[in-house]
This record gives sequence, C-alpha cells and structure tokens, in this order.
Amino acid sequence: MANVQLQPLQYIQNKFGRDSLVLGGHRYSIKNRRNNNRIYWRCTVSTCPATVNTYEVHPIKFGPPHNHQANSNKIEVSKILQTMKQRAKTEVTPMPKLYEEELVKLRHPDWTDDTKQIVEQLPTYYSVKTSLYHQRSLNIPELPKTTADTNLQDKWCRTTKSYQFLLPSDNINPPMLIFSTTDNLRHLASVDTIFCDGTFYTCPTLFHQLYTIHTMTQKCGLQTYYKENDDITKLVRWAAVLPLVPQDQIEDVWLETLEEIN
Ligand SMILES: [Zn+2]
Repeated sequence: MANVQLQPLQYIQNKFGRDSLVLGGHRYSIKNRRNNNRIYWRCTVSTCPATVNTYEVHPIKFGPPHNHQANSNKIEVSKILQTMKQRAKTEVTPMPKLYEEELVKLRHPDWTDDTKQIVEQLPTYYSVKTSLYHQRSLNIPELPKTTADTNLQDKWCRTTKSYQFLLPSDNINPPMLIFSTTDNLRHLASVDTIFCDGTFYTCPTLFHQLYTIHTMTQKCGLQTYYKENDDITKLVRWAAVLPLVPQDQIEDVWLETLEEIN
C-alpha cells in the first residue's frame, strides 16, 4: 500500500465527462465530497467494496481491498480514448488520421505484452468514430443547410498561422467563397501563366464546384531551398541506397541518417 501512496494522483474522465481517480491500476468514481479538498472514492467495479479517501492531492485512507485484479491496460486504453476525444474537440485533423496518429504512438521500440494487450483492447475506429464526431460537434458550428446560411467567422476565415484567408465576396450570386492569402494574391498577380482546375468530388455538397487557381513559383519555393540544402542532398542519396540495404537493417540505417542530420 505504501507504494500506492507515493504515486501521484491521476484522473481520467468517464463517459459523462466526470473525473475518475486512477490509482494502482484501479479506477474510482466519486462517492462523496466533503468541501473541495476531501473526497471519498469507490471502485468503479460495482461488486467491489474497495474505497479510498483523498485529501487535496494525496490518498490518506484506504478502505476494504479490491476483490478483483488491477487492470492497468484497460486504464491506458481509457487514457488513449480520452486523448482522442480531447483532440477531436480541439483540432480539425481528419478523424481517421487522428485515430491513426494516436495508435502509431504505441509503436515504439519498447513493444511489450502490455502494449500488445492495449492495442488489442483499443476499440476499432468504426466503433469510436460516432463518439469522436460528437466531441467535435460540441465546438464546431453545425453545417449550414443552405448557402445563404453560410456564415464563416473568426478562425474559420484564417489560415492555421492566423493570416486572413477568406476574401470578401458579398455581391456574388450564386454565393461563392474565395480563399487566398495576400502573399498568394501577390504571386498570382506577378506571373504571366496561371493553371486552373475544378473538382466536383471534394466540394462540400451545398456548393457546386471547388475551383483552384495555381501559379508556378518555384524560384521562391522548395526547389531552390532543397538545391542549396546539403542535408536534403544527403537524405536523397541515402534514400537511394536503401534498396541495397538488407531488409532487417533498413529502419536502423534510415534512423541513423536522420539522427546524423539532426
Ligand atoms: Zn475494485
């Protein structure tokens, strides 16, 4: 029990958004609260009599013991799901990508039986996506029903670096949303040739078509930067060598190369 008391108190949220206490591989929900500092918790397994009392950030009294094994992996799974929900609420990363990114974090060199069990217990994307989209809908405005309802404000009019991105288009009928930064407009105005392309497939259903206008700006783009960057040249050469490296050493060789450049 002494070991348990040394652990810092950790909390995760249950499905109703309330804090659960995580201690020694067990999870507790609030049973009672005396003023803000003293809390009585009981094990979330309904048939288990275990309780613990905490004062501020310390456990101060343990009640009856648990009548079941601790399950740290299940708690890890809950933590991962909580991170996914939090990200779904605050980011606009496409949901499948967000799920995949959290999953990839488990693929580290210290792969153990625990990691394997956590991956096995983690719900599939298809079983959590409704819950993730629900979290996103809490912070993201509802989709408009008609083009006239489209009312973009604040961060939805800006780039991720907070540059103005939505341009005025008040008197255009039917409604049209025009996106560009000032820099991009400057490039557009300075070239002799522009390239235009339209797509219906990726266009939001309320609108007819997504139309893009491109210019060639390689002189100030990545081509020049890459040409003058020795690290990039080295990376390209090493990448070309990779097909000659034995298959089980490819990852090591590539990681060493990245480390050398960093
Ligand atoms: Zn218990």
